Parts: sequence; C-alpha cells; structure tokens
Amino acid sequence: MRTIYLDNNATTSVAPEVFEAMKPFFSELYGNPSSMHSFGGQLAAPIDAARNRCAELIGAPRASDIVFTSGGTESDNAAILSALANYPDKKHIIISAVEHPAVRTLSQNLSKRGYEITEIKVDEAGRLDLDELAKSIRKDTAIVSIMWANNETGVIFPVEKIGEICLEHNVLFHTDAVQAAGKIPIDVSKMPIDFLSVSGHKFHGPKGIGFLYIKRGTKFWPLIIGGHQEKGKRGGTENAPSIVGIGKAAELAKSNIGEENSRVRKMRDRLENGIIASISNARVHGDREMRLPNTTNIGFEYIEGEAILLLMNELGICASSGSACTSGSLEPSHVLRAMKIPFTRAHGSIRFSLSRYNEEEDIGYTLLKLPEIITRLRNISPFSPAKK
Ligand code: PLP
Repeated sequence: MRTIYLDNNATTSVAPEVFEAMKPFFSELYGNPSSMHSFGGQLAAPIDAARNRCAELIGAPRASDIVFTSGGTESDNAAILSALANYPDKKHIIISAVEHPAVRTLSQNLSKRGYEITEIKVDEAGRLDLDELAKSIRKDTAIVSIMWANNETGVIFPVEKIGEICLEHNVLFHTDAVQAAGKIPIDVSKMPIDFLSVSGHKFHGPKGIGFLYIKRGTKFWPLIIGGHQEKGKRGGTENAPSIVGIGKAAELAKSNIGEENSRVRKMRDRLENGIIASISNARVHGDREMRLPNTTNIGFEYIEGEAILLLMNELGICASSGSACTSGSLEPSHVLRAMKIPFTRAHGSIRFSLSRYNEEEDIGYTLLKLPEIITRLRNISPFSPAKK
C-alpha cells in the first residue's frame, strides 16, 4: 500500500540530496573536528559551510550567530534558560497560550521553581493579542518567548511587531521558528529578535539536529556545558553528519521556498476547499490568510479525530489529530482550547500538513476517501444529526 504522507509538521522525509551529503561523514570522514591531526581537521570546512547555509536560511548576518543543537526542544530550552541564568533577579516569563510543549512544559516546570508565567491569549482565529502582550511586560520580565508559526494550525504570528514591543520595553525576545523555517522567508537581520530556534527534521533534514540563532551582543549562558565546541556555547563532540545534513537541507529549503508558496500552497488549498465542499459541518481552524502554506487544521463535528485517523491509516493516509489522550479520556489540544473551538468540533479535528514531496494524486485520493470515512463515522455516532 502506498503511503500518503500528510503529516509533515510532525516530521519530514530526509531529502535524497541531504542523505547523499551526509553519507561520507559516517564512513571515511569520521574524525573528531577537535583533533589535532588533519584527519579530524578536514571536518572544519564542511561544518563551516553548513553553518553558513543555516545562517543564510534565516538571514543571520554572520555564520557565528548560529549554534548547533540537538533540535527545536534544546534550542527553545537553551534560549529561555540562558535569559534566566543571565538575569537571576528577573522571575517573570511571557509566552503565548499556544506554544509547543518545548516552551509550554518548560514554563510550567519553571513555575514550580518560583518563576511566574504569563500566557498571552489568542482569539478564535488563533491570533495573538498584542495589546495584552505590551501590558504584560514588567520590570522583572526575563524573556518573551512566542512562536513564529503554530505547529497545529499553521497560524503565523506578527513576529516583527512582537520584537518591536520587546525592544521598546527592553526585554529579550525568543521565537520558536521550528515550523516556519524553510517554509516561509525569514530575515532576522531586519527584525529585533534575540534568539530564534530551528529544527532540521521539519524541512527535510535529519532528526536530532537543529540550531539556535543568537543575535550578536545578546548575552548567552550555555545549556550544555563541557568542551569548547561551538565556541563554548554548546559542549559535546559535533554531530558532523547531521550538521552537514541540516546545512544541505537549509540550502534546498531556501531554493524551494517559492515552490512551497505556490505548488504546495495550491495543493493545500485544493485539499481544504475540497473537504469543505464535500463534507458538511467541517470548519477550518485558524486564520486562513496569515498561515503557513502547507498546513490546514479542520474540525469535523460530532466524531472523534482519533477514529478518523485510524480509518485513514487503514488506507495509508497519515495525518494528526488535535486531541491527545490525557488520563484515559480524549482532550482537545491546548491550542484548540485556547482558540475556544467548540468542544464537539475540536474533538474531531485533523491537521493535514504537506511538503514539496506530495503529489496531486495524494490530494485526489484523500478527497475521494475522506467523505466516505466521515459518513461512516457519523452514521455510528450517537451525537450526530449530520450523517454526511
Ligand atoms: N517547536 C515546534 C513549534 C515544533 O513543532 C516542534 C516539533 O514538533 C518543536 C519545537 C520541537 O522540535 P524537535 O522535535 O526538533 O525537538
């Protein structure tokens, strides 16, 4: 059975070019870049080249602004914990109500250690309340951490404006750009951003590698302390194959951003419009304009997302649901709850996320099969007045 992979916000396939670029670093080029001999020393140039490509992807002025990490989660943790370490008197953190667990769970954990967390609300379209943000900043605010684009809905936040508000109030600003990088243009050189997190596996790079952009002049206290690697900003022998991989993925993503915003967007829109036209009581969650070109989150009233996923899975169609099993019952995600999506619809929400490796046939097949799945589930749902 062919896999129709529409879950690219969860992870992506490694691009063939990325895999090819990585291979020699598992076999003949296995040296340690820190070694005194030239066998290890030959890794310096490929690592530098990868750093340059990562800097170019986000418009960072210097390659030295990029610190390689193990991925998005580590980058998010490193940025926030650095701010707290550098400003020990500041005990207040601001995040949005829809952050990824890499920021949200860390914040919840910090709140048990004496920090105060303010969560900025979003409206029913997932848009941030900027006035509330400005009003929430205090003298003891250590950092504002607000994502560039949401992983569940694809909604894009006005990062430049958020950065300006932070700059005006003289507070550090971190943005989790894990879902934005490689999908939409990013230029940190034009925006007041102190820290920005990126993860390789969201744009056809390998898993377990990412980077943190640190604006020149922003104080940084390392999270992983050890050797002198990454100029002392992140200890541990460099993951050379993955660094080369994310570098190649960054180069490819930069050159494919046009396609992402034309071909991929068109396929996403065809899928979304086709679903809305053929299935009753289905609604798109989140601002349809300010949104990643590859993502759509759709709620189907009266049925459970998990059941839809299971039946799609039987046909080889992969997507994600907007609910998670918490203590034995299905709970809509914190993102959909923050958007105040009615419970009956949030429960039946599915995220479809595309990539440049999807084909029109994937969309055609999904549009053919999904209405049958929804009808089947609604026919057996005790809550459903709508059967189609
Ligand atoms: N931030 C966002 C917005 C994400 O979507 C993800 C992954 O789903 C992460 C952070 C975590 O990234 P990683 O899997 O590289 O740790």
